[in-house]
Amino acid sequence: MNALITDGFNRPLHDLRISVTDRCNFRCQYCMPAEIFGPDFPFLPKNEVLTFEEIERLAKLFAQLGVKKIRLTGGEPLLRRGLPELIRKLTLIEGITDMGLTTNGVLLTRLAKELFDAGLHRLNISLDALDENLFKKLNGRGVSSKAVMEGIDKACELGFHIKVNMVVQKGVNDHEIIPMAEYFRNKGITLRFIEFMDVGNSNGWNMEKVITKKEMYEILSSHFEIEPVDAAYFGEVAKRYRFKGSNAELGFITSVSESFCSSCTRARISADGKLYTCLFAGNGHDLRVLLRDGSTDETIKNEITSIWNKRADRYSDERNNHHPSKKKIEMSYIGG
Ligand code: SAM
Ligand code: SF4
Ligand code: SF4
Repeated sequence: MNALITDGFNRPLHDLRISVTDRCNFRCQYCMPAEIFGPDFPFLPKNEVLTFEEIERLAKLFAQLGVKKIRLTGGEPLLRRGLPELIRKLTLIEGITDMGLTTNGVLLTRLAKELFDAGLHRLNISLDALDENLFKKLNGRGVSSKAVMEGIDKACELGFHIKVNMVVQKGVNDHEIIPMAEYFRNKGITLRFIEFMDVGNSNGWNMEKVITKKEMYEILSSHFEIEPVDAAYFGEVAKRYRFKGSNAELGFITSVSESFCSSCTRARISADGKLYTCLFAGNGHDLRVLLRDGSTDETIKNEITSIWNKRADRYSDERNNHHPSKKKIEMSYIGG
């Protein structure tokens, strides 16, 4: 029986996001603006990125501390060479009952089969617009939305459980809410609308650019009949709805308008092995140093436990009290 550790607000450590790379083939303006993440941007050198063996060891230790869910992310996780090999190792870990991956989807037509065969069966795929020209602009690399839609189709055919995530920005892609809802309802795929968040320091966020769940709900309910669905488990992040008379679902991730820190059971590990107890943290705790200095498993678990026990993060609950100049980590580094 694995131990369960809790933080300063009695929140258990239940899920873990692991970033496998800080690099990406997109330059979404709200995450990695091209002006900042240009050719000279100092991405992590290879020797600073955790090896698969190091990730596997950490994942085992977190599982022994009660983690049940692992999600791989990035940057763009599908850029990490040999990823199926890592997935194979992680799915074998005792106590891990749920493995997922978040991706921009572009490499799925090529890699989905290998990933599925390695034991990955859940994907969150990001797509912010169906409209070709808009999507090309939003991803900062001129990539066609068809490439992602084909990736989604390929993953569906293989039997992946898929959710599509759309970050909605006011005046940018809010007119795509209805076409996206229609398209994914017809495919029976859950679409989740994410409120634009003030992660990192470089995406020019302000409250005027946020379209809240309430506003999105109004837009959707003027076109569709939708009804709420109960949360499936404690700490489920999305507020769920379904189209009446259909099994297709919608979800809202309301980090800005209705924060959910009180049920936040998630830890994050950056590609270079730092542990972050909040998406909006300024500093991480270096676990790589322990992985590489001969520390025992017990020492590392004690360190993680002590960090989690002291955790008091509630950034979104307190958003309006924060000083705007407080330095935060970037989304592409910690993986959302
Ligand atoms: N590259 C992968 C992708 O885009 O799915 C994985 C990493 S990405 C950082 C993880 C998720 O964070 C994506 O769904 C992305 O849309 C979301 N995201 C990035 N910046 C965001 C922001 N400022 N506000 C809300 N969501 C954001
Ligand atoms: Fe890359 Fe994902 Fe960030 Fe877009 S949201 S720049 S795809 S890491
Ligand atoms: Fe969790 Fe931090 Fe987000 Fe609150 S702001 S839900 S503590 S990650």
